[in-house]
Amino acid sequence: MKKDRPQEDQGILEQIREKAGTNRCVLCGKCAAVCPSFRNLNLEIHSPRGRMALCTAFLNGELEPGEKFLESLSGCFMCEACDAICPAGAAPFRAIVFLKTLAPFQGIHQELKKCLEQKGNSPLPIRLFECLNIRVSEKGSFFSGDAEPFSPKEGNKGKKVIYFPGCIRNYHLPDSAQATFQALKKMNCEISFAKEIECCGAPLLFTGSLKQVKEIAKRNLEILSQYKQSEIVCDCPTCAWMFKNYAEWFFKESPEREVAEQVSQRVKLFSEFLSENSSPDSPLFSRSYKGIKLGYLDSCIQKYGWNASGALERILSFFKGLETTEIPENLSCPGWGLLLVEYKGLSEKYANRLISFVEENHVEILVTEDSALQLYMRLHHPELKVLSISELLVRGKYNSSQK
Ligand code: SF4
Ligand code: SF4
Repeated sequence: MKKDRPQEDQGILEQIREKAGTNRCVLCGKCAAVCPSFRNLNLEIHSPRGRMALCTAFLNGELEPGEKFLESLSGCFMCEACDAICPAGAAPFRAIVFLKTLAPFQGIHQELKKCLEQKGNSPLPIRLFECLNIRVSEKGSFFSGDAEPFSPKEGNKGKKVIYFPGCIRNYHLPDSAQATFQALKKMNCEISFAKEIECCGAPLLFTGSLKQVKEIAKRNLEILSQYKQSEIVCDCPTCAWMFKNYAEWFFKESPEREVAEQVSQRVKLFSEFLSENSSPDSPLFSRSYKGIKLGYLDSCIQKYGWNASGALERILSFFKGLETTEIPENLSCPGWGLLLVEYKGLSEKYANRLISFVEENHVEILVTEDSALQLYMRLHHPELKVLSISELLVRGKYNSSQK
């Protein structure tokens, strides 16, 4: 028997129909080929097509969410590859995110949500890391250090930027944030920080707390809109993706839309900014990495979310004598982050495959802007040298003994 959905859910259900285009899905299965959860678990309920079929049945009132349904949604790596690849214009990733906000799906990520609530009113990133049992860097956060806004001498001023390191680099990889700050200084950028921004909202979006993310997005837009002439430089792809998408995800028909769209156009991932504002003859690329074999990988969200892939490769080509190898696509979407809690084994499986590739190909340094991957490797596989692009720019001459 078909079940009617509650009146208060109709708005979200409409969004799923409209934004995720459930009726456009023809079940062709093309999305399965790029889906990291399907590639690893090889079960239809862990493919985007399977998730779309479940979603459609739920929307039609033909299916109530049971354990397998919840497991299917919680196993999504939130990479957006399926939305980018779908030839029919359907969007499984969007369907999953919006479904998670409905009452019958509140059991998903329950442990984490409860823990976040219990931790009181401290900033969201602090609560999140406490819940994940990840200790803040002993060196302190980047913002708790001596980082001050920077203005170059008159006559030598480059672009105005707001630098946003994201919570992982700020609290756990402050050296890496410091390296980006130094690189921006060397580019003569006039740098501000917008320290009042606590979080881009991604952890709440990915756990289905839509209302709270909207509040965070509104506050962040107010802050970012105060720096009208500045480009917003992030070195976390997920933060960049969030800032870029506030307009489309949350404010399509609201007064904030115009501001959100302006902000969206000013957001740049650090590699994009660098690629657009530097050239091979810049002193930034004078470090010697001769004889070093380097592997690089884009995060899924930068590849599929707004196609920022290519910038990292271009920047690396500016270094003389560097031997590079691109990490294959099927190793580069490990879903570190939330999956560390619920799918620890799967994340470890990805990590081991990536490490095997690195070892077999004698890669000495792995470069990525994926801050979650960098943190994961630092915590669990410190033997592997993983750097951000900015660390490669500002660190000294490398040799293998410096690992
Ligand atoms: S979401 Fe798109 S790619 Fe995936 S099965 Fe449906 S139509 Fe095919
Ligand atoms: S967002 Fe990524 S993990 Fe989730 S269904 Fe789509 S392709 Fe699979």
